[in-house]
This record gives sequence, C-alpha cells and structure tokens, in this order.
Amino acid sequence: MALRKILTDEDPGLHKKCRPITAFNDRLFQLLDDMHETLSNADGVGLAAPQVGVLRRAVLVLETNVPEGEEPYVIELLNPEIIAAEGEQHEAEGCLSVPGEFGIVTRPAKVTVRAQDRSGNFFEVTGEGLTARCFCHEVDHLEGIVFTDKAERMLTEEEIKAMSGEDSSEEETD
Ligand code: ZN
Repeated sequence: MALRKILTDEDPGLHKKCRPITAFNDRLFQLLDDMHETLSNADGVGLAAPQVGVLRRAVLVLETNVPEGEEPYVIELLNPEIIAAEGEQHEAEGCLSVPGEFGIVTRPAKVTVRAQDRSGNFFEVTGEGLTARCFCHEVDHLEGIVFTDKAERMLTEEEIKAMSGEDSSEEETD
C-alpha cells in the first residue's frame, strides 16, 4: 500500500464526472488499498477516487455508527448509487480536499446505497447520521460536486473554533 496525494479543490479533476469501474482487477485493488491508507492517514471519514486523481466511481466511507466497544470500519463502494433517502439533517460538513473549511449542507438523515464490491457483486447498505451524510458527500464527488458547491453558507473562523471545542463528530472531514 502507498499513500496518495489528496488533491485540493483547485484541481480541475475534482470538478469532473467520473467513469464507472468496469475492471475488477489488481489495478483497482491497488487503488482501493492506497485509498484506505490515505484515508486512515488523513483521519477522515470518507474518500473518493477523484480526490486522489483517479476519475473512477470508487469511494470509501467510514461507518462510525458501531456498537460501543467496536471499531469503526471502512465500507468500499464501487459504482455507488443512492437508491433511497429519508429525513433531513442540517449540519456542518468538511472535506479533505477543502482543508480547514466547513459549511452547512442539508442532507438526508438516512440513505441507502447500492454498489458493487471488489468482486463486482452488488450489495446494498444503509447509513444514518454522519454515515448518510458521508454517502451523499462521496457520491457527489463522483459527479464532480464538492460540498462548497452545495453549502448554504460557510462557517466563520469563530464558528469553527467554537465547534472544535464541542463534540468532535461535527468536524470530521471527508
Ligand atoms: Zn470530500
């Protein structure tokens, strides 16, 4: 595995639509393994392939809603599609490609995604809260959409400072 450089918002690749994954081969596995390492190193909750310069429909999402005593785990989603969404949440959101900035984005409270795994098998997964937000945020990346395009407003420096003194779950970046 190797760390890959996380591109920032200024990179044109972050604003392009990504192509589907069609070959479930070693090259894909290498990309995914590198993305795992890069996400973990950056301490983020999600990462999309275009953030590391690969314009393909692959994302990682950290499932943080786990029973007490269990570790969060990373879900690999290839060619993900949101097939159901309900409710609404209205929280601060960040992105590893937009370091240090946060904005208020309205997202569904609960989201179900259909995707393929490394073997090309289809599966469905449902996430709530931060996980639902993260599914939406990462799928947006595959369409070339960065959260700043959707934010109702960006947080001020004072608000970010105040937030970092509170519950840290609101300031995780994906
Ligand atoms: Zn992002």
